[in-house]
Amino acid sequence: MIRKLIRNAHFFTPVDNGGPLAGNFQGRVASLEHGAMLIRDGLIERIGTEPDMLTDIDSGRIDEEVDCMGKCVIPGFVDPHTHMCFAARREAEFGLRLKGTSYLDILKAGGGILSSVNAVRKTSEEGLLEATLENALSALRFGTTTLEIKSGYGLNTETELKMLSVIDRVRRLTPLDVVATFMGAHAVPEEYRKAPEDYVDLLINEMIPAVSRQGIARYCDVFCEAGVFSVNQSRRILSAAHSAGFGLKIHADEVHDMGAAGLAAELRAVSAEHLLAASHANIVCMAKSGTIAVLLPGTAYSLQKPYARARDMIAAGVPVAIATDCNPGSCFTESMPFVFGLSVMNMGLTPEEALTAATLNAAYSIGMADRVGSLDPGKQADFLILDGGSPAILAYHAGVLPVEAVFKKGERMNTKRNTR
Ligand SMILES: [Zn+2]
Repeated sequence: MIRKLIRNAHFFTPVDNGGPLAGNFQGRVASLEHGAMLIRDGLIERIGTEPDMLTDIDSGRIDEEVDCMGKCVIPGFVDPHTHMCFAARREAEFGLRLKGTSYLDILKAGGGILSSVNAVRKTSEEGLLEATLENALSALRFGTTTLEIKSGYGLNTETELKMLSVIDRVRRLTPLDVVATFMGAHAVPEEYRKAPEDYVDLLINEMIPAVSRQGIARYCDVFCEAGVFSVNQSRRILSAAHSAGFGLKIHADEVHDMGAAGLAAELRAVSAEHLLAASHANIVCMAKSGTIAVLLPGTAYSLQKPYARARDMIAAGVPVAIATDCNPGSCFTESMPFVFGLSVMNMGLTPEEALTAATLNAAYSIGMADRVGSLDPGKQADFLILDGGSPAILAYHAGVLPVEAVFKKGERMNTKRNTR
């Protein structure tokens, strides 16, 4: 048994009461000055004020002490929406977008997702692993201790299984907790462009059963968007996934209001993502069904689009999470501090609401809240020491890395570049 004492900390954490935090509760973050946390074998045993803790802890039985110098300590970030398993960057396309070519036009011309599909199909599993590890370890350096990664650049059974295998190897090879999502319905592949219904049939009859047998993915996600998958197609795919035992997620109403947020509520999906164009009526439906809004402000930044209406969602009682959407096209960042800053400055979240969004609500949106997302006893000791006095430092000290130290299961991570 190894016991560690984290002391002289100013803790800020959402408190887990058994569900994601919505409405006024989203911003109710516990603040504990002069705090100490006792860790046993990587799990939080106790947390409290230092004088209280020290009176009844046998200091002879502490193997290691960490002095936080009075700085802000928060739970490790949970990034619940990434596409970081990819083979090639798309920097040239970024240049095109800056000149005014729209994302959907790039997609129609065979760029966008489809160019990533070609690259992933051509790349060996080892090559894909190498590239994905680099992204995941970069995320860890920026304070992400739990990560979701989607497939969806294969778009055929063989390559989707290869991607999921890579995602599982990243889970085994890094200290990160990694949750895999199957997203064969990320785009209609070139070879089915004239018969998209046949691709939906392939997803339902071949891919979902194969992914289920492989046993790696926990969720199934669909890109419900004009020119991609319709609401009816999305409903068919997600119903099949639900029957096969997957949790459900939807890329909903990113560009057009398709009513996909309403579909997420109807199917009781755990989360709906993006939601830039979601209608107010469907936001209210999400609040009723308890569907978490996973907002991706880095994508609005990168596509130069208006941001999702986070304030309306919080007012309607929808629990809000934030994520990077890390992908080579519409948002290439692995930095949760960057996304945190955008949420505060451009989506109007308070720093406390953003903290809940980046930790506890994010953990609920990928089924990991039983072990991560807050500094509650019994959970893993995943936490960050920030170079500041409160979580606001993440928005205030912009464009740099205010994360001074990253701890996963009580172990200090080596966050220097190019080390594993
Ligand atoms: Zn996405």
